[in-house]
Amino acid sequence: MPSPSSRQRPPDDAAPLDVAVVGAGPGGYVAAIRCAQLGLRTVCIDQWTDPRGRPALGGTCLNVGCIPSKALLDSSHHFDSLSRLLPEHGVSVEGARIDVAAMQSRKSRLVASLGRGVAGLLRKNGVEVVTGAARLTADGAVEVEAAGSPPRSLRPRHVVLATGSVPAAIDAAPTDGARVVDSEGALAFDETPRRLAVIGAGVIGLELGSVWSRLGAEVVLLEALDDFLPAADRDVAKEALHVLRRQGLDVRLGQRVTGCEPDGAAVTVRFEDSRGAHRIEAERVVVAVGRRPATEGLGLEAAGVERDERGFVQVDGFGRTSRENVWAVGDCAPGPMLAHRASEDGVAVAERIAGQASRLDHRAVPWVIYTHPEIAWVGRTEAELDGAGVAWRSGKFPFAASGRALAAGEAEGFAKIVCDEATDEILGVHVIGAQASELIAEAVTAMAFQASAEDLARTIHAHPTRAEILHEAALAVDERAIHV
Ligand code: FAD
Ligand code: AMP
Repeated sequence: MPSPSSRQRPPDDAAPLDVAVVGAGPGGYVAAIRCAQLGLRTVCIDQWTDPRGRPALGGTCLNVGCIPSKALLDSSHHFDSLSRLLPEHGVSVEGARIDVAAMQSRKSRLVASLGRGVAGLLRKNGVEVVTGAARLTADGAVEVEAAGSPPRSLRPRHVVLATGSVPAAIDAAPTDGARVVDSEGALAFDETPRRLAVIGAGVIGLELGSVWSRLGAEVVLLEALDDFLPAADRDVAKEALHVLRRQGLDVRLGQRVTGCEPDGAAVTVRFEDSRGAHRIEAERVVVAVGRRPATEGLGLEAAGVERDERGFVQVDGFGRTSRENVWAVGDCAPGPMLAHRASEDGVAVAERIAGQASRLDHRAVPWVIYTHPEIAWVGRTEAELDGAGVAWRSGKFPFAASGRALAAGEAEGFAKIVCDEATDEILGVHVIGAQASELIAEAVTAMAFQASAEDLARTIHAHPTRAEILHEAALAVDERAIHV
């Protein structure tokens, strides 16, 4: 049995291969590193290469997801703050302008540098990186094909599938890589479109719509559902819709896109609602209608690895698939399609392969939408608890009653804590407000330790901080908040 403390063993080429991880996104590379830390001889296979043909590690998250989107969100937020926030602080800047090319090259340098970081981490831990497309065979081998190199056949004891996901497509709006693009295309615009239509007002649509709206685009978001952010707390969703519309995002609900026709410099987008058919013209269109698992062409059927009707690899609570010694983590398996969930799946599966007792745990996975203000939540909503017949009570506290939020000039939003009426255990925390992405970490920790609202209410929070908003929300559960 490998020892948990046997870290950073050099690769032993003569030893049999313990684990082949397919995919070097946050699920795959983290699984590979954890396997290596546990003394398992591990390879990590990925097909992604940069425009110069060099391996590009880090998956969707690093190359075309979390990191580049946050780089552009931060750049565009700084630009937007010049007119929206800084004048209130007495700061005025004449003639500010945005250099989109400079913003994009900063983003690309960041991605490249973090990609080298992932390569360094894998190397340091003794994980061999194999570049190419992997496929499972019926007899348990992993075949890797890469342009310009002979195919390679690996015979690992275990395979971890971490192949992630790709943008979902709709027939009504086929992407052409120019005027009609997916999220990857929308992260790479070389200038701000004058008018941008975004199909889908989910997490990705809102983040990308925010970037280009802050830089001056007129942005229309067309969302098929009547409800805005249906997975979020209802009060949070209502506040978010109000604030985002006030910022200039033209969010239109209940609008199903039926056609999209590029014609020269413009695209006509057709959509319909209960009143009939409509159309708008846009310079560019982003299709942000969700993501689907990347599980085609992997040889899963031949290898006896079952998928569900939506294409996700079916796994049990330990990440085991229907084929012995084949495991799956992250976006390619059912569960929240988020980077941190993929990584924690990866750790659990690696530890399980090494004989430890770990299992997948999706009970307290935080969600964040990086609009401004940010939206973050963990656990269950009041509506979900009603549906499950669980009696709850909740406490709410506004950012506008926080000295720190007011000092910063960012006083929109609130935090809400929902807990079990009988036991006081925290069941969900919902935040909309500046830096909600950071605030939610305390809520996740509290829930991981099954804390009660009373536990949080009795915990000392530094003053003045935004964290006090959570403290006061915990007090508000028992109607004893001090500052409202
Ligand atoms: P991926 O990151 O998709 O990696 C899978 C890897 O497998 C890829 O590198 C791919 O090349 C490789 N692969 C696939 N098939 C094969 C094969 N046959 N052979 C070899 N290699 C293969 N999540 C967050 O938590 N926070 C965010 O802020 C966030 N922002 C996002 C913004 C955008 C615009 C997008 C698109 C996504 C965002 N996500 C975010 C989601 C996040 O990127 C994914 O949840 C995460 O990348 C999933 O990790 P993964 O390891 O499962 O798969
Ligand atoms: P998410 O899954 O969070 O990325 O959100 C994707 C959003 O796209 C969902 O809210 C879907 O309702 C929405 N959507 C899917 N198809 C269409 C369509 N044809 N027209 C408008 N919105 C759509």
